[in-house]
Amino acid sequence: EMAELCKIKSLPAVTTDGHSIHLAANISSTRELDIAVQNGAESVGLFRTEFMYMDRIYPPNEMEQFTVYRELAQTFREKTVIIRTLDIGGDKPMDYLQIPEEDNPFLGYRAIRICLDRTDVFKTQLRAILRASAFGPIKVMFPMISSMEEIVAAKRILEESKQELREEGQAFNDDIPIGIMIEVPAAAAMADFLAEEVDFFSIGTNDLVQYTLAVDRMNEQIAHMYDPYHPAVLRLIRQTVEAAKQKGIHVGVCGEMAGDPRAVPLWVALGIDELSMSSRTIPRVKAAIRRTSCADSKSLASQLYLCRTKAEIEGVLGFDSPPPT
Ligand code: PEP
Ligand code: MG
Repeated sequence: EMAELCKIKSLPAVTTDGHSIHLAANISSTRELDIAVQNGAESVGLFRTEFMYMDRIYPPNEMEQFTVYRELAQTFREKTVIIRTLDIGGDKPMDYLQIPEEDNPFLGYRAIRICLDRTDVFKTQLRAILRASAFGPIKVMFPMISSMEEIVAAKRILEESKQELREEGQAFNDDIPIGIMIEVPAAAAMADFLAEEVDFFSIGTNDLVQYTLAVDRMNEQIAHMYDPYHPAVLRLIRQTVEAAKQKGIHVGVCGEMAGDPRAVPLWVALGIDELSMSSRTIPRVKAAIRRTSCADSKSLASQLYLCRTKAEIEGVLGFDSPPPT
């Protein structure tokens, strides 16, 4: 099987009937770039910037961030790198942000909510991302968007950052693509309107499952209830993808579900443009794509949408064994 995976790295992620899906890596530091490339990642679909902000007394300054983002841009010169702005919250306290203790950190002061409040921290990051965009195909993505107001506000601050750089004579890509994570059920419900404001969506299934099912993604005791294939989750995913298609914007998936080979027929049937995952899962997902046809996926998906229970869904997807690890 090892040799098989080795061979697949150089082959395209294309179905038996010629439909291709872009495969990207989720990474948290530039040290993971080599592994991503070795596993056949065509780009970075999610750069989690929050790790740069953790375990320190001050947030990383503009130059420090710029250096990291520029390295990403230069590594994937021909491809794309999606940089997600700070996605942090009360579960990962950072002294300099002075986040008070909260009863429900996952429903609290976090991610874009902090950034729209602490525009000093947000602008430093946006300026670094913009400056790096002069060196390669960088896209910027905002996490935890739950309303139109938030995306409009985030875009306004991005625009202000561009204006500052313009006045300083600094180079950046004025047409930098802007995307949002769809990971809060409210965003999935608003997907048609939100699609008019951005260039792409990336569905964050980790949080979308947690918030849709009201199941803490870290709580062992209810782990059996954390079900990415719950019909409610599938409905929200479908609604999001259909809204994106209708408005003509690019749509990807970057939660753990993207790395589950058993979900491939669902993505193919929906016409997902990009799957971004932990590098080590890329070869397996690619192998699954290469075994799948668009026609078969569509008939499977139409059965899937009629399912009412987990058992029915698992039957349709052929889950007789747990996902390979
Ligand atoms: C997600 O929520 O699906 C996601 C990709 O983001 P994170 O796991 O970093 O919350
Ligand atoms: Mg998330």
